[in-house]
Amino acid sequence: MKEFRHRFLLPKIAGDGCVYLCGHSLGLQPRTAAAYVDQELKDWAELGVEGHFRAKNPWMPYHKLLSEQTAELVGAKPLEVVVMNSLTVNLHLMMVSFYRPTASKHKIVIERGAFPSDQYAVKSQIQFHGFDPATSLIELTPLRGEICLREEEIESLIERSDDIALIMMGGVNYATGQAFDMARITRAGHKKGCAVGFDLAHAAGNLNLKLHEWGPDFAVWCSYKYLNGGPGSVAGCFVHERHAQARSLPRLAGWWGHDEGSRFEMAPDFQPMSGADGWQLSNPSIVSLAVLRASMDIFREAGMDRLRAKSESLTAYLEFLLNREPSSNFSIITPREKTRRGAQVSIRIVRNGRLLCERLAAEGVLGDWREPDTFRVAPVPLYNSYHDVFRFARRFAAAIR
Ligand SMILES: *Cc1c(COP(=O)(O)O)cnc(C)c1O
Repeated sequence: MKEFRHRFLLPKIAGDGCVYLCGHSLGLQPRTAAAYVDQELKDWAELGVEGHFRAKNPWMPYHKLLSEQTAELVGAKPLEVVVMNSLTVNLHLMMVSFYRPTASKHKIVIERGAFPSDQYAVKSQIQFHGFDPATSLIELTPLRGEICLREEEIESLIERSDDIALIMMGGVNYATGQAFDMARITRAGHKKGCAVGFDLAHAAGNLNLKLHEWGPDFAVWCSYKYLNGGPGSVAGCFVHERHAQARSLPRLAGWWGHDEGSRFEMAPDFQPMSGADGWQLSNPSIVSLAVLRASMDIFREAGMDRLRAKSESLTAYLEFLLNREPSSNFSIITPREKTRRGAQVSIRIVRNGRLLCERLAAEGVLGDWREPDTFRVAPVPLYNSYHDVFRFARRFAAAIR
């Protein structure tokens, strides 16, 4: 796995000694990204509009170059995935189709303290349908004195409720790093007739996902975190095969989701493509897709199985080194079991946490600070080394003392 580190450009903050444990916020740039982008700029310069058909990689079907790799990455069939838009936009598009509240079944389940964009999205959807988040939103809360959620608690809540329309959770909680048993949550939800969707912002490119087999109705993710697609890059979307031909689902339509055989006949009636492709709205940013391709080609070469194996031991090593520190000024809130977390350790700092992070950042040791007290660090198996983890732990220990 070592060889992959050199495929990425490591930031030059504080010289060559930067320790970058921030792949959960913004993944690093593949060295090949510039060449992938240059190809498209060159074809645009030389071909203009003809590039849609005559570019080396014609832009018209360009997004399909990513279907197989994306499907592989999340354990889906190519028909079930598409890269388009941004994460929150995709989340809204999916809720338009899969959140169908009625007077007796109108609630959405989400984790308490979910990423703000997800909270705003679900609340605004509830309001859009004329319901009130105060009575239509269920926020999953850990048991008293605990930090992470227990799947059996989630399961029993679902079992005893008849009014849940949609369960929409993170695959990995961004704050605690807890990975959820998505198969189990999906099963419980479907048994009660709920739609089930996951936000995989912190799971795609991090966990070994099996979306087709687990069976949620939809999933969405961004590609600038573990997937290294670059700031604001094009996001991903999964719609389970069982909905591939579902013409009865309401959806917000755009021309790029129209049957490609007749898209350019410019007919007034919308005929969706089968599968996730049918939820596309617009022709995508080719430059952004080019960067993502550079990264996805590396993912394919490395393989999620191997990456996940290295990830588990990198994270365990980080946990081990931190646990050797006797300081009472911090504790690890990420679950200990490797199946219940991804490439992340969240450290709760009792006093002066922000100051500590700023000091480390000034030395080129980068993690991510979240108010009020959490320092999240992600050793990413593609480009982080055991030595990075060791250096982080040493600097952290010095700073906390
Ligand atoms: C990063 C992240 C987002 C960001 O949403 P964008 O639409 O890409 O700006 C949303 N949800 C979660 C859970 C995230 O981790």
